[in-house]
Amino acid sequence: MTIRRIGCVGDLHGALGSLLKVLEHLRNAEVEGILFTGDFARGPFNRDPALGNTASPDELLSVVTSASANVLLVPGNHDDPVLGGGVSVDGRETSWLGWRVAGVGGSPYTGGRFPYEWRDDRTDLAVWRAPDILLAHSPPADSGLDVIKSGKAVGSKAIREITDRMTGLLVCGHIHEAVGVSQLGQCLC
Ligand SMILES: [Zn+2]
Repeated sequence: MTIRRIGCVGDLHGALGSLLKVLEHLRNAEVEGILFTGDFARGPFNRDPALGNTASPDELLSVVTSASANVLLVPGNHDDPVLGGGVSVDGRETSWLGWRVAGVGGSPYTGGRFPYEWRDDRTDLAVWRAPDILLAHSPPADSGLDVIKSGKAVGSKAIREITDRMTGLLVCGHIHEAVGVSQLGQCLC
């Protein structure tokens, strides 16, 4: 069996110092490429400059895109939907390191509080063929990776629908307090 390593990084929220530490770790681990699950923008929860997470999405992006020749990202709900340009795989599928990778940026609607939200009853994803790797900002619904502090599960049903057809890997971010690994059917999340 060949073991291959990729890096998965999410929810930077302006934290340039932490990003540099993570990238050094990934360099030492000799990863083939890095996937970024979005939320480069600082957002309302850490807008206080005293927290030190003051890097802009553009500053973070220039570090991210020069960190590896093989970088893909999706924008998060805090980000501009067009963030990343050609490095963004949002809403499309691409070939990456021999895998078919598809991306879904943003998150289900929370009342319009964030710049990139959509209605979770969207049907466009239902016709997608299952990719080898799905890079999503939002976790799938009822995956254990979508539980917020109150105990409520807030993941996306539309993303869950793709996950249920997959036999590969789903990489997501968004719900900071639910970080972890979960197996949904044949898909490792
Ligand atoms: Zn988010």
